[in-house]
Parts: sequence; C-alpha cells; structure tokens
Amino acid sequence: EHYINKHIPMQKADTKQLLHFIMSKPRMDGKVAIVTGGASGIGEAAARLFASCGATVVIADVQDELGEAVAASVAGGGCRYMRCDVTDEAQVEATVAAVVAEHGRLDVMVSNAGVLLPTGPVMDMDLAALDRVMSVNFRGSAACVKHAARAMVSRGTRGAIVCTASVASCQGGFGPATYTASKHAVLGLVRAAAGELGRHGVRVNCVSPGGVATPLSCGLTGMSPEEMEAAAEPHNVLRGKVLKAADVAEAMLFLASDQAAFVSGHNLVVDGATTAVNYAVL
Ligand code: NAD
Repeated sequence: EHYINKHIPMQKADTKQLLHFIMSKPRMDGKVAIVTGGASGIGEAAARLFASCGATVVIADVQDELGEAVAASVAGGGCRYMRCDVTDEAQVEATVAAVVAEHGRLDVMVSNAGVLLPTGPVMDMDLAALDRVMSVNFRGSAACVKHAARAMVSRGTRGAIVCTASVASCQGGFGPATYTASKHAVLGLVRAAAGELGRHGVRVNCVSPGGVATPLSCGLTGMSPEEMEAAAEPHNVLRGKVLKAADVAEAMLFLASDQAAFVSGHNLVVDGATTAVNYAVL
C-alpha cells in the first residue's frame, strides 16, 4: 500500500504494472523485525515500510501513546508496540525475549533510537549530557546488537542488524561533538560486530542519514519541519531534493533484506553526496 501510493497513481496503475512493481521490491514476508525508536521519524518510516513489505514489526520505544498509534495505523495488523528503553539492558533483553516467545524468531533488529542534545561547544561541553547521549546512541545500540545477535545465533535463524548512525559518523561538524562521538562509536560497533557475527550468518550494517526534518532535528534547531526543509534545500548537492525519512527507510530495507545477502560491515550513507564532496571547491 505504501509503495503503491507513493509511486503509482492508482488511476494509471494496471494489474501488470502493480505486479511488476510488487515483485521488484525486497520482500520481508515471514520475517520478524524490531525497530527501536519506531514511534517517530526515521524509525516510524522504517516500521511502516517493513510492514508494507510483509514483515511482522515490533516498535520498541519510550513514547507509548505515539508508538501505539503508529502500530495501530499500520494496515493488516502486522505491527505492534512494546515499551523498551534502550538505555536499560534488561528491557532490551526482555523485549527480544518477548518477541522470540511470541513469534518464534527474530530476523531483523533495526537499532535506531537516538537523541541529539545541545551539549555545547567542546570547551563548554556538558559532560552529564554527554553521558545521556552515549547511553542512548551508543550503549543502547550495543545492547540491541548484543541481544539481537544472541537470539539470532541461538535459534540459528541467521539475521540482519541495521544500526542508524549519521553523517556524523563520518565527519565532524554535523551537530555537537557528543553526538558526533556517539555516532562514530556506533559505526565502530557495527564494524566489529560484523566481523564477529559473520561466521554465524548474522549481517551487521549501518545507515548514515544526512539531515531529515524529524522531532530530533527540529528540536535542536527550533524550526518546523517545513522551515528545516526550506533551509536545507539550497545547500543540498542533489538540487531540488530534500531528504525524507522514507528515503532512509528504503536504505534500511535493502540492508535488512535478502537482497543484501553479502553486505555486512557497511556504512550506507544516505546524504545525497554531502559527505562525498569538498564544499571548498564546489
Ligand atoms: P525522532 O526523535 O523522530 O525519533 C527518535 C525516536 O527514538 C523517538 O521515537 C524516541 O522516543 C526514541 N527514543 C529516544 N530515546 C529512546 C530510548 N532511550 N529508548 C527507546 N527509544 C528511544 O528522531 P529521528 O531523526 O527519526 O532519529 C532516529 C535516528 O536517526 C537517531 O538515531 C538519530 O540520531 C538518527 N539520525 C537522524 C538524523 C536527522 O536529521 N533527523 C540524521 C542522521 C541520523
């Protein structure tokens, strides 16, 4: 439904077109996925997209009302919400265990929950806030990778883990130093885990989005999503395009799907070439 609405005006779509379209997309039928931070923004887009491709999706978040509402709005009943604070390892372990108990397996972990706090310039860095950023972004990802991998390996289901890093995993200058450091740490975790878990058939990858107008980024800038997109557009290398949460979700879908069967330890940057170019010479 998501794909059809997005890409094919219904009045023009005929059966052949629809069939071709559906068959050409990665399918997630029979797969069970957890998406942390799935109540909002990029995680919400991923949860919706994965469910539209046939996966059973569990949104794990701390925003109960929002998470319940997103899950209830996904057509076909393939999505549900569970409260899980990723900074609490016991909650991550319990969430994974509950999913395996209910569905018999875990195929995909999207470790996406994250925060961006205004921790100030380096010389005034708020170290208490640094602990909070590292606790959600890095430690939370570590807990998700650890317990997802344990579930996948012990049941012999193979599996795919996708962590959301950021363009801040590649360079400084995209947000405060604390955020940059936390996302570099996520990328390091992904690379190390991919190396260790490959022998068990578990793939581990990252997506690194550029700026997307979500509550996280709008909260930092104080702009509305429309203002953020209007401000970003003239600076995008890909002119006339603004990065949306759904674009990032497509990259996550690829990494989580069997189409990416030999892709592991990779950082898939989704930024329209922002980190590929040197602005000084543009
Ligand atoms: P968002 O605020 O819309 O979504 C983040 C979600 O994470 C929220 O639903 C929030 O409740 C949840 N969350 C926060 N702390 C949590 C915790 N302790 N346990 C469980 N859930 C928790 O923001 P978003 O932009 O969609 O961010 C998603 C990911 O994308 C983050 O990791 C972020 O760092 C990353 N990212 C965002 C951008 C951007 O420009 N928006 C760019 C690059 C990377």
